[in-house]
Parts: sequence; structure tokens; C-alpha cells
Amino acid sequence: ATPTAIMVGTGLGASRGVLFKNATALETSARIDTVVMDKTGTLTRGTPAVTDVVASGMTETEMLTLAAAVERESQHPLARAIVALADERDLERLAATGFRDVPGQGSSAQVDRRRLLVGNRRLMSAESVALDTMGARHDDLAAQGRTVVLIAVDGRAVGVIALADAPRATAAAAVDALHRAGIAVVMLTGDNEATARRIAAQLGIDTVIAEVLPADKAAAIAGLQQAGQRVAMVGDGVNDAPALATADLGVAIGAGTDVAIETADVVLMRSDPLDVPVALRIGAGTRRTMRQNL
Ligand code: ADP
Ligand code: MG
Repeated sequence: ATPTAIMVGTGLGASRGVLFKNATALETSARIDTVVMDKTGTLTRGTPAVTDVVASGMTETEMLTLAAAVERESQHPLARAIVALADERDLERLAATGFRDVPGQGSSAQVDRRRLLVGNRRLMSAESVALDTMGARHDDLAAQGRTVVLIAVDGRAVGVIALADAPRATAAAAVDALHRAGIAVVMLTGDNEATARRIAAQLGIDTVIAEVLPADKAAAIAGLQQAGQRVAMVGDGVNDAPALATADLGVAIGAGTDVAIETADVVLMRSDPLDVPVALRIGAGTRRTMRQNL
């Protein structure tokens, strides 16, 4: 009877594009009490667009041209959005040398013999950049739920670029369904605390773990497990893979990176957050059937 229940559960999932990689994944799904969700690309679409450009001590065009020169070298979704705006405005393409990617913080390079930094507050403070008026602009925009990137030239803040990444259409409904099933929901992100809290509030999530470096995401999951929680982690990115592996149940968004899909125990082919509660429900149903047949 047990193999039959597993087959039924696996088949039920497959018909909805919820792929359980093995029997253990299905059984673990029944025991989850906490779902940790990555923000960018999981709760949101992962395709940010620039909403605000603020320059200080130079023109907006000059600031954006310099920022784009650095970000052209980066694969990050925020970088792509900044470059897309520069290209849309047909700005000059300056060469960048000595490009460096700082995971979870931003990037740096030399442009026109000037040292450029493009990234978050952590990057700016690590490089001792004085934010001046840009600090307040940053905080205003972050409080609105925007992801905010700071730009510095030769150690001085010269602008901020704000970006918005729309929540997936069913993200709030997924959170609600999990809560109704008695499951705690946590947002995990490398983004700014204020930005993350604003988006979490819109989605009905009350627990936020923000400003987590990519290398520390797995430790955040382990922390919850040490507190006795049985954790499912839902993510899409390369930087989510260690957290997916650490969680009791790793769940990958189908539209995500290959590494996330390979590491996960469950893959949501439709990339729909509502399939998270569906997966856990299928797990619970399978467990019930198995118990009845013991
Ligand atoms: P997430 O957890 O949302 O996937 P990341 O760990 O990739 O985020 O990045 C965390 C933060 O680091 C971003 O919100 C941004 O502030 C900053 N950051 C990372 N890469 C870049 C970049 N190329 N340009 C600007 N900012 C960046
Ligand atoms: Mg992500």
C-alpha cells in the first residue's frame, strides 16, 4: 500500500507540474511547519525595472552613464535593469576596467580613470563612502518598497537608482493558504531590511530575514532548524542552492536557475507560489493514505 500512496501522490503532483524527486520528498512535505521564501524571483517576478534616478553633484545622464558602464559587466538582474535604462536612453557606452563583483553587495570598476562603486549600503560602508544627502534619499525609497542601489565615484556618493520588482500575481494568496494551514511563512533576502519589510507587509508575511549575504542563507535556515522548526525553503537563484540543500525540503521555482532545480527536492514547473501549499497538501494526503493502509 505504501508504494501505491507514493505513486498516487507523485502522479497528483505531476499533473499540476509539482515534481517530487523521490519518495522522501513527498513524505517530508507532510511534516513541514515553516516555509522560508526567497524574495527576488520567488515571491517577486525577478525582473526589476528602474523607477527613480537621483543624481548629486553631476547630471542624471552622467551618473547613469557611469553606473551602466560598471553594471554592463555584471549578470545581476539589478545590473541588467540599469543597463536596459541606459540603452533605452541611448547613453554613451564607456569602457570599464578592473571589474569586481561583490556577492550580495554590488560591483566596482574603473571608468574614465575614476573608481566606481554600484551597490548597497553595506558596500558603501565597507568602502567608507560618505552618503551625505543620498543616505536620506536611499531610505525614503527603501521605505516605499523599492530596491535601492547607491552609486559612488572616488569615495563620494553621486546618486541612487531605485528599482521595483512586482510580486508574482499569486504570492499573497500563497502566503494566506500557508497561514490557514497553520504553517509559518518567512521571507529571506539579501535586499535591504526596509525594502523587504514593506514588500512582506504587502504579502501578509510578518517574519523577515533581510540583508543576508548569499553565503549566509544556508546558516539562516540552519538557525530555524536548531530552534526546532521543520523547514521548507523555496528559491530560484544560484545563491539559494545551499539553503535549498540545508532545508528539510528544498523547493525550486521552475523558471529558476539550473543549480536551484538540481539541488531541490521538489520543482514547481509552473513557477506559481500557490503550488507551495499544494505540494505540502499532497504530502499530507499521501501520509494520511499511508497511515490508513498500515
Ligand atoms: P537577493 O537575495 O534578493 O537575490 P542578492 O544577494 O543577489 O539578492 O543581492 C543583495 C543586494 O546586493 C541587492 O539587493 C543589491 O542591493 C546588492 N547588489 C548585488 N549585486 C548588485 C549589482 N550588480 N548592482 C547593484 N547592487 C547589487
Ligand atoms: Mg531569488
